[in-house]
Amino acid sequence: MFTIHARDPRSRARRGILHLARGDVATPAFVPLATRGAVKTLEPRDVEALGYEMVLGNTFHLFLAPGPELMTALGGLNRFMRWERPIITDSGGFQVFSMGHGGVADEIKARRGATPGDSAGAILAIEERGVRFRSYLDGAQRFLGPESSMAMQAALDSDIALVFDECTPFHVTRDYTARAMERTHRWLQRCLDWHEDRGSGGQAVYGIVQGGIEPDLRTISVQTVAASACDGIAIGGSLGQDKAQMHGVVDFTTAELARVAPDRPRHLLGIGEIDDLIVGVQAGIDTFDCAMPTRLGRHGTAIVPDPERRWRLDLVKSRWRAADEPILEGCPCPACDGGFSRAYLHYALRAHEMTAARLVTQHNLSYIARLMADLRAAIAAGRMSEVAAALLAGAPPGTAV
Ligand SMILES: [Zn+2]
Repeated sequence: MFTIHARDPRSRARRGILHLARGDVATPAFVPLATRGAVKTLEPRDVEALGYEMVLGNTFHLFLAPGPELMTALGGLNRFMRWERPIITDSGGFQVFSMGHGGVADEIKARRGATPGDSAGAILAIEERGVRFRSYLDGAQRFLGPESSMAMQAALDSDIALVFDECTPFHVTRDYTARAMERTHRWLQRCLDWHEDRGSGGQAVYGIVQGGIEPDLRTISVQTVAASACDGIAIGGSLGQDKAQMHGVVDFTTAELARVAPDRPRHLLGIGEIDDLIVGVQAGIDTFDCAMPTRLGRHGTAIVPDPERRWRLDLVKSRWRAADEPILEGCPCPACDGGFSRAYLHYALRAHEMTAARLVTQHNLSYIARLMADLRAAIAAGRMSEVAAALLAGAPPGTAV
């Protein structure tokens, strides 16, 4: 299912190919979010034209609507959303537990001051069986557990399913993190059992490593997941309260994975800032997903080669009202190559024109697709350290390899 074609001698970076039911995915790769069956503002052909080979759909949202029966009747997520290439589906665990723990996503991405609970939903009970919660759509009581998550992912017919897990935030106690991790391991086995009995042979299943920021828990989790029959391994949970800690936890976890599961593909859940992608690839991550490029794009922030400003350019700021240059000179995306000026994008964003949100989203996804292509080429050419250093220092994609 996963072949490794080149390895960087000075880091754990590897260049590979995921062989999935609906085609191949060259790795390392970024996977754009199609949370509710759409990469926001784009059509599947736009996503493909930007260079992407896989998108990520979300079991939790698609379970609430359209739901498993309708999804099965409509022939699965690929057919429903008109995307012919591979899809990975998140298990829904992260979203369910976010309602209880409050703002896990914001916390993990180290954004401070986030408002807990960004939806009207609420957890009613966490049991060994699964989680009872109130739907944010209609307030109805719903249930999601290992078996129902796998059944929904079977209805979605994704190429890669993720096991149902409890994602613990940073602020809980070590004891809670340990107990949640142990339950996640029991749920891992139930997901794999369900898949073996009733799942599709063409669907790959990834286990999820938990354990928070505790090295001994991460080690236990890596060993437990690696000992299971899962096809690939995702890294989830709290990775710490700042970037240094996050990079440390990822590095530690992939070092363990390199020891006990060297040939299985690795996915880092919910991480995708430019520097995190570069450092993550060097740590040996094969695929990443993150809301960042599409969310920033919709709100008018473009990704630019400017490490000092965290690779961000806020087009909504009035300093761009008369700027006649593109977001990034030489960028082949529909916004820059199409000749749209910063002044136009600034004006159209302020006017709430959806065209502007779409153009900046395309620019951001193009930037990241080309960054990942550079990293793949760098590993194949044996030049990973130089290229990573240049990209981290602010070289635009396409100029460093
Ligand atoms: Zn562009």
